[in-house]
Amino acid sequence: MSRPHVVIIGSGFGGIRAAKGLAHVEVDVTLIDANNFHTFQPLLYQVATAGLDADDIGFPIRRIFRRNHSISFVLGEVTNIDLQHQTVAVDRDRVFGYDYLVIAAGSVSTSFGIDGVGTHTFALKTLQDALRLRAHLLSRFERASADPATPVDLGVVVVGGGPTGVEMAGGLRELIDKVFRKDYPDLAATPTPITLVEAADRVLGTFHRSLSDQAAAALQRRQITVELGTGVDHVEPDAVVLKDGRRVPAGTIIWAAGVAASPVSRLLGIELARGGRIPVGSDLSLAGHPNVFAIGDIALSPGEPLPQVAQPAIQGGSHVAAVIAARLEGRTIPPFRYRDKGSMATIGRNQAVAELPYGLRFHGFIGWLMWLGLHLIELMGFRNRANVFVNWAWNYLTYDRGSRLLLDKPIGS
Ligand SMILES: Cc1cc2nc3c(=O)[nH]c(=O)nc-3n(C[C@H](O)[C@H](O)[C@H](O)COP(=O)(O)OP(=O)(O)OC[C@H]3O[C@@H](n4cnc5c(N)ncnc54)[C@H](O)[C@@H]3O)c2cc1C
Repeated sequence: MSRPHVVIIGSGFGGIRAAKGLAHVEVDVTLIDANNFHTFQPLLYQVATAGLDADDIGFPIRRIFRRNHSISFVLGEVTNIDLQHQTVAVDRDRVFGYDYLVIAAGSVSTSFGIDGVGTHTFALKTLQDALRLRAHLLSRFERASADPATPVDLGVVVVGGGPTGVEMAGGLRELIDKVFRKDYPDLAATPTPITLVEAADRVLGTFHRSLSDQAAAALQRRQITVELGTGVDHVEPDAVVLKDGRRVPAGTIIWAAGVAASPVSRLLGIELARGGRIPVGSDLSLAGHPNVFAIGDIALSPGEPLPQVAQPAIQGGSHVAAVIAARLEGRTIPPFRYRDKGSMATIGRNQAVAELPYGLRFHGFIGWLMWLGLHLIELMGFRNRANVFVNWAWNYLTYDRGSRLLLDKPIGS
């Protein structure tokens, strides 16, 4: 008799955890992803700012499950889900039947319908985004240096004061002031403006107010202008126009203002929740489809909406694997319960904020050490951890950053 077949869409934090949880259950698993690697998104900003290289934070999926013969990997884009016939189509014509389906396709950057965001800003959601942004930054400095007679706006606006925006702004300041200043001495005399725009009245809105204030002060000490309480009206090719009418010119505009569920949710043909998220019940399955589960950024579980960060995806992946294992054995398990393990964000060298359970809060150097330690532990694979550790030590000691090769046409963007 053939074993039940579990199809998992997405090999991000949730999908990988679900597959690992099923590795020793009597099922066959097909894990599908549009990329052949897992991306450690929390460090994308370090790839964009030349602190790390792409393969320090990307990990080949086939390598993860090399020893698990019940798990096969399929590279391709999921283009259709047929709930009635229990099939998933990859790249339109490769069709896989399932007994259980786990949807873990994450989220995509969203413009919230604001004019110009799609065309004039850089997103930071994938490794490809990070490499594109890094090449753009390098190209602009090369162009400014090559032809001093033609001014190039080297200023940067980062939109979104969540952890991604804050980390990006801090990382940029280090890249520009510590590395580019030495690489392009002809440009060093003019300071490069960096502006962080946040519609709310504070950065890191999900953290305790005291940590938001610490982070804002640390950004300002790094000569980053923090514009609070004003949203973006529209984006022009060379400026961000704020809702209060002010125009902030910039040669590089980074959009870190929010995410919406992956378009995979729309393939289901069901009514979706806010942001395109898939509503699920307390066992993380879809109403009327007890064998179809959604986890992580793409899902909306009952109660207070969970943040679109790694832990809900990881814990959701473990839970769904446990539900499937229990069902096969005729058992039931308690409903999904999310355990908040806290949040962290770094502003740069020696500076981070950390909010842990039981009201524990840290900032400054201690917060930064915690941030470094946690990210090293969470990274996948010994080689990646070792690479990242060596790179960080090198960057810290030398104020240098190794990953700034310009592989595409050097000047232009
Ligand atoms: C820049 C940045 C910084 C972040 N920093 C932090 C942080 O510090 N701490 C934290 O906890 N969280 C952070 N997050 C959020 C965290 O990375 C996400 O919440 C987490 O990755 C969600 O996990 P997931 O499994 O739901 O989706 P993901 O990890 O995004 O994985 C989704 C997978 O689905 C695949 N996929 C999507 N569509 C298709 C398709 N049609 N066909 C095939 N495959 C598909 C994708 O290729 C991807 O591999 C950050 C995110 C970003 C972008």
